[in-house]
Amino acid sequence: MVMAMKIRMRKRVVAGVWLVFWLMGIVGVCGKSSSKKSTYIAYNTSHGIVPGKINVHLVPHSHDDVGWLKTVDQYYFGGNNSIRGACVQNVLDSVISALLDDPNRKFIYVEMAFFQRWWRQQSPVIKTKVNGLVNSGQLEFINGGMCMHDEAAAHYIDLIDQTTLGHLFIKDEFNQVPRVGWQIDPFGHSAVQAYLLGAELGFDSLFFARIDYQDRAKRKDGKTLEVVWQGSKSLDSSSQIFTSIFPRHYDPPDGFTFEINDVSPPIQDDPLLFDYNVQERVDDFVAAALSQANVTRTNHIMWAMGTDFRYQYGLSWFRQMDKFIHYVNQDGRVNALYSTPSIYTDAKYAANESWPLKTEDFFPYADRANAYWTGYFTSRPAFKGYVRVLSGYYLAARQLEFFEGRNTLGPNTDALADALAIAQHHDAVSGTQRQHVAADYAKRLAIGYLEAEELVASSLAFLSESKFSSRHGNQVTKFQQAMSFMSRTSSDHCPLLNISYCPPSETALSDGKSLVVLVYNPLAWEREEVVRIPLDLYLCGMSQKISLNDKVSSEWITVQDSGGREIESQLIPISDISLSARNYFVKSYLGRSPGSTPLYWLAFQVSVPPLGYSTYSVTSAKQRAAKLSEIRTFQEETDTAIEVGRGSLKLLYSANGKLTRYVNRRSSVTACAEQAYFYYSGHDGNDSDHQASGAYVFRPNGIFAIKPVNQASLSVMRGLILDEVHQQLNPWIYQITRVYKGKEHAEVEFSVGPIPVDDGIGKEIVTRITTAMKTNRTFYTDSNGRDFIKRVRDYRSDWDLQVTQPVAGNYYPINLGIYIEDGNMELSVLVDRSVGGSSLTDGQIELMLHRRLLHDDIRGVGEVLNEEVCAHDECEGLVVRGKYYVRIDPIGEGAKWRRTAGQEIYSPLLLAFTEQDGNNWMNSHLSTFSAMEASYSLPKNVALITLQELENGKVLVRLAHLYEIGEDKDFSKMARVELKKMFREKKIARVTEMSLSANQERAEMGKKKLSWKVEACRGEGPKAVRGGSVDPVKLVVELAPMEIRTFLIDFEILQLFGS
Ligand SMILES: [Zn+2]
Repeated sequence: MVMAMKIRMRKRVVAGVWLVFWLMGIVGVCGKSSSKKSTYIAYNTSHGIVPGKINVHLVPHSHDDVGWLKTVDQYYFGGNNSIRGACVQNVLDSVISALLDDPNRKFIYVEMAFFQRWWRQQSPVIKTKVNGLVNSGQLEFINGGMCMHDEAAAHYIDLIDQTTLGHLFIKDEFNQVPRVGWQIDPFGHSAVQAYLLGAELGFDSLFFARIDYQDRAKRKDGKTLEVVWQGSKSLDSSSQIFTSIFPRHYDPPDGFTFEINDVSPPIQDDPLLFDYNVQERVDDFVAAALSQANVTRTNHIMWAMGTDFRYQYGLSWFRQMDKFIHYVNQDGRVNALYSTPSIYTDAKYAANESWPLKTEDFFPYADRANAYWTGYFTSRPAFKGYVRVLSGYYLAARQLEFFEGRNTLGPNTDALADALAIAQHHDAVSGTQRQHVAADYAKRLAIGYLEAEELVASSLAFLSESKFSSRHGNQVTKFQQAMSFMSRTSSDHCPLLNISYCPPSETALSDGKSLVVLVYNPLAWEREEVVRIPLDLYLCGMSQKISLNDKVSSEWITVQDSGGREIESQLIPISDISLSARNYFVKSYLGRSPGSTPLYWLAFQVSVPPLGYSTYSVTSAKQRAAKLSEIRTFQEETDTAIEVGRGSLKLLYSANGKLTRYVNRRSSVTACAEQAYFYYSGHDGNDSDHQASGAYVFRPNGIFAIKPVNQASLSVMRGLILDEVHQQLNPWIYQITRVYKGKEHAEVEFSVGPIPVDDGIGKEIVTRITTAMKTNRTFYTDSNGRDFIKRVRDYRSDWDLQVTQPVAGNYYPINLGIYIEDGNMELSVLVDRSVGGSSLTDGQIELMLHRRLLHDDIRGVGEVLNEEVCAHDECEGLVVRGKYYVRIDPIGEGAKWRRTAGQEIYSPLLLAFTEQDGNNWMNSHLSTFSAMEASYSLPKNVALITLQELENGKVLVRLAHLYEIGEDKDFSKMARVELKKMFREKKIARVTEMSLSANQERAEMGKKKLSWKVEACRGEGPKAVRGGSVDPVKLVVELAPMEIRTFLIDFEILQLFGS
């Protein structure tokens, strides 16, 4: 009752108010009927740059993640909208129509993965119209790779490949060459991005948002948000790029966002409607512009008009920008215009300003005091490993595709190329996507791999049969691959070899047959390595596992090279932990039990020519044999040091199983060295700062040593080829250290997980190698696997660092390796995937290997990083298995190993298997092959990083100098490659040097290059050296330190190898 009365009373009051307004309205309309008209307004949006005024460049854009909370396809077609209402198809449809409505409107598009999806479904009429928009500059492709790639956890070869894929699409469809880098979202920025994926692409400028909050504050104060960035000390000013860092983020100033549900007040300019606000909004605009102009040099400022997945109804933005441009320019205090980053760049260039110089990179990135985005360097380590393995495989598969001849209809590498490109996205290889999206990336990779695997099998069969048969595409040899047991049609590389699962090698020795192992080397220099394959000796006539205590040199297996010479081989028992991992993961990944169980690894030394293969046969023999490793398990009572290693390198372990000493007899290096595991407990954000450790952010809350449960459990297996040290540290960390007779580094294979979290605490697992070296707070980490950058603990060269996170703030991304040095020696650690790492005290190197966390770190992903594997109706934490490689060299000699071994780790030998009766296969096939001229090999400071036949029949070749200036006394020199000798049996007709992404001739790119002025801050040093132009007759390519040169080659006769 009481309620009802109140409502009635209020109604009466409201009615009274309305009456007053109504009367005022009548008075108003009658009094000013001539000026208050509502009519069509032709907004003048045609303004260009006005000299002498502050020019506000409005750059309409949509930041479209190629997968993050949803999969790339879900984002494209608008699926799974309960997670996020995002549909890129809407963005492109509505933007194109808005651009067609007004020729002054502009838009930039960045991610070709989305644009391709849209483009292939457009009608010829729309395609013609869009071509018109692109040609007029209304629609501009910038960045132009398949995705906006991550800059911390991606390898430079992947970055080049994914950018090339997008750039060639743009070139083919639109004949356009992107000229701007747009890396607005990645979480920190790499030196390689600046010089290689920037300047060397022919980009004139680079834009991004995320830099350290302390750095940004200083740059705003000093107007140094815009710089000339020289990312490479070797290429120096010959490879610099104008770089613009946004003052805040990649969205417009507050109050200027206009997606349909946004809260910014739109301009209301109909005088007949209430809330007319033109002057108020113009004032807001001018104020925001002046505020930005205060931190920016020259009178050009840019507003990034858009943010994540905006312009789903594009007109809602363009309508407002039309009005702002119209009214702000009528007002006249500042000038507003539709623009693009290219127009902005040209305006900056025309201002003829000198810019501050920036060197090195922008890692690590913190957006607040306790929020260092250094956890993602390691997040999802298994996925990071998968990306890296397939990256190397893709490089090899393209070579083999070229040797056989590209076949668009048959199996090819296109699907793998596409999957790898998408996997470089800044929420993909970074490990910062949701779990179902991570699964989607992995599924795409697996599909791409399966097709590439078929191609590899067919190419190897073609090469090995070509001398003996004129048939093409009708090979007899069926190379077995590990995953192919499902189809039983093709060949291998054994992707599950890391869990000792390789059905082809396990089964082929039955019925008196022998196993042919073809070993392909994708590197353009000869290599000698040890390969290991799991063997099932039951099938070789052995009725039981040889007892671990048997001192046997039982004669069961023999390995011969292609000349029939027996070579040294060694049997190593497969550890029980490996076998249980094998059973568990084969069941969970493949949905079936692995069948019989191999008991041994067979290891043998192979020697493989450059860009070619060798073959070996493995036979069960009564007489001669692989020697079984001698096995000793050391228990607590051992009181003498244990020495491991049969060649130059010896590792010494104490009686209680701890590594104590590293000795290299050849180089006379002796060092005390220890290695141990620790975990950081992930902060739960339960304090005054709610920042937790999560997918992006590393915020440790204490460090704890992981003490070996069983103090002295150390098993050593010694043999003619390698020694292995097995250590079970606790129920979830197992480690095997291998020392090869012919190598001077130690290979450490770790198996970490499931990380226990029953105590409610997330954990981040690290390994530390500790020496007594005095390293003066200094260490070196690579940039995307290429240049090494000097890091100094608790120090930044660009500002006075306020240390808030002494661990997380000293973490850096590692793709190739990390090293430290004192005056006498250098300790290097190389990795098999991207990880985070540091040197937190002198003489020590730390790598983060795995993370399992229980809290979201509030950066948008909205899920905890708690990876699990489900099998047998149960889920448990993910186990990560990987390798790192350790070596200590005399000072000045480490680079040779880091560069050569780094390349070998990236491009492992590819193994394929088939079986034969007697010597049948060997006698009827080409058992060794090299694509290059006999005895030719690339110099050791050059790698062939691309050899690929393009759709148009041209062949794309990239050569990379592997050393920086001053890095090595022998190899930091001009290198020469004789192209003619690289292609035996093929005659080169024409060689054209191209930009890095092969979308324009290098000479053209050079002519267009802008020459930015740098503030005088140092003397004019010597100009960076570069290789000279290629003589069309001699065809010798020169490469200066760190130079990568890209060529398109036409061959005279498209005759195939061997045919
Ligand atoms: Zn993003």
